[in-house]
Amino acid sequence: MRGFGVFKKGKVGWMEKPDYVCGPDDVICRPVALAPCSSDVHSAMESEGPHLINRILGHEAIGEVIEAGSNIKDFKVGDIVVIPCTTPTWKHPDIQDGTHQDAGGLFTAINFSSYEDGTFADKIKVRSADMNCAHLPKNVTVEQAAMAVDMMTTGFYGSELADVKFGDTVVVYGIGPVGLMAVASAKLRGAGRIIAIGTRPNCVELAKEYGATDILSYRDGDLVEQIMELTNGKGADAAIVAGGGSQALNNAVGSVKFGGGKVAMLEVITGEDKTVLDNAFIASFLAHKEIKGGLCPGGRKRMERLLSLIEFGRIDPAKMITHRFHGLEGIEPAFELMVNKPRDLIKPIVLFD
Ligand code: ZN
Repeated sequence: MRGFGVFKKGKVGWMEKPDYVCGPDDVICRPVALAPCSSDVHSAMESEGPHLINRILGHEAIGEVIEAGSNIKDFKVGDIVVIPCTTPTWKHPDIQDGTHQDAGGLFTAINFSSYEDGTFADKIKVRSADMNCAHLPKNVTVEQAAMAVDMMTTGFYGSELADVKFGDTVVVYGIGPVGLMAVASAKLRGAGRIIAIGTRPNCVELAKEYGATDILSYRDGDLVEQIMELTNGKGADAAIVAGGGSQALNNAVGSVKFGGGKVAMLEVITGEDKTVLDNAFIASFLAHKEIKGGLCPGGRKRMERLLSLIEFGRIDPAKMITHRFHGLEGIEPAFELMVNKPRDLIKPIVLFD
């Protein structure tokens, strides 16, 4: 098989690997759609470790089943499947404590392109496929579904972690694709006011479309002060960090209310940008402020729930797609686009006809 991956930190390219052997609980797919993500750029350019040597990148995919393991009940050759970026084996006891992403260790369920080869290849292996793959519903397009496997599940998790309630004021830091989905999820959960922080014109427009009621920019001054002014000195009920690094986390803690303000942290902070909360905010925790972090819930039921929101017209995540590429060779320019991040980029996709 042929895939696009990372040879070592900072060096990416095409690699040949032996074909997968399909285990009893696996399916092997050909790609139908792939989407590069800023996490792929982090893995390739900023992260180190033996697990990232000669590793095929990619974790967002729609596939067509070309081989199904002997235990597979619900999927057969020819089925189009939605493949979540998080695919646990569902066999670790920690999952019984309520989350699956890190059962037994950090990111154990986020195996694509970390502990196992990813989706940027002519073949994709999905483990525990009956529990992880979802059928593509009739009224959902491949493009829409491709935006559910990571962007939607991650962005929506922000509203879940921040426990957004009817009428809440919610601040979303960063309106790239994950932040846009956080905005949409806050609206779906009934937030009253949704304050989105961002500057790129097409992201701002889409944030409004997905439900943002106010747009703020760091260029107009201290964000905490701006939010306090908007909320009459009270602060927001919840904040979701989907960009902006440790500064955004600091601002998020500062901009939620004393007495139970909640912060959801969705961003992986890498490199030199170490998270140090300003002293001024340390007192926040004595005022019952909370920070919860987590990434992309996966699995079949999660995908089916998100796909239902698309199928019945609650949201169209495909509006985020700004750049389209075609065929396996399209992966490389799509990845480069994510590295260079032109101003009109929200989300690229690679389609296979
Ligand atoms: Zn991703």
